Amino acid sequence: MIWDTHAHLDDPRFQQKYFAEVCERAKLAGITRILNPGVNLPSSKRAVQLAQDYEFIYAAIGVHPHNAVEAAPETWVRLLQLAKKPKVLAWGEIGLDYYRDLSPRAKQKEVFIQQIELANQAGLPIVIHNRDSNEDCLKIIKEHPPEYGGAFHCYSASWEMAKILLKQGFYLSFAGPLTYKNARNIVEVAQNIPLDRFFVETDSPYLTPEPYRGQRNEPAFVREVITRMAELRELSFEQIASMAMDNAKQFFKTD
Ligand SMILES: [Zn+2]
Repeated sequence: MIWDTHAHLDDPRFQQKYFAEVCERAKLAGITRILNPGVNLPSSKRAVQLAQDYEFIYAAIGVHPHNAVEAAPETWVRLLQLAKKPKVLAWGEIGLDYYRDLSPRAKQKEVFIQQIELANQAGLPIVIHNRDSNEDCLKIIKEHPPEYGGAFHCYSASWEMAKILLKQGFYLSFAGPLTYKNARNIVEVAQNIPLDRFFVETDSPYLTPEPYRGQRNEPAFVREVITRMAELRELSFEQIASMAMDNAKQFFKTD
């Protein structure tokens, strides 16, 4: 029983022709749940539709910092409507990305803050994307705390930063980079994080774990992230998988 808590199954790369086989391989690999986050309005709609059509898929809705420029007042009205649909477990992914800077930083911040407030209004936890933007991210979540909890997806910052976030009640999610040979920060975080505050994900189709780097990522590969975490904590695969599942259920408030 494994939960891939972050996979963009609505991505056109899956939807065109691979969807059925990707789901089949996930099932064979023991993945019983997948959360599909939205990255803009159309993608959020697709995520909600997939959650409606497939028992094992859940949705989050939101505007990714890359797409912050697309957001308009109408977007918020539509997302609030989507937030009420069944199996929508979180608002995300939202946050800041100063690595690729695909939207102006001022706009990213405005859209992040706006969505924390909307999540609070909708009664949903948030899923945060934070890349090279620690300082502004910490400031925003301090000034606009998510009332229903927050998780940092594909956590990649330092253990120092993690300690601050854990103290504030945030969860951290590990993805493929944990398996990379040059991983340092994330390894330190995985070695030290309390075992009731993490979960696992693929971020498919991105960030493919070892030994599959170079291929398109897919939910079945979340097993590699669990395997690495199990090595680092000297626990069994099953123990880590089951902790990650329990933690995700706790965070997303679902059975
Ligand atoms: Zn993502």
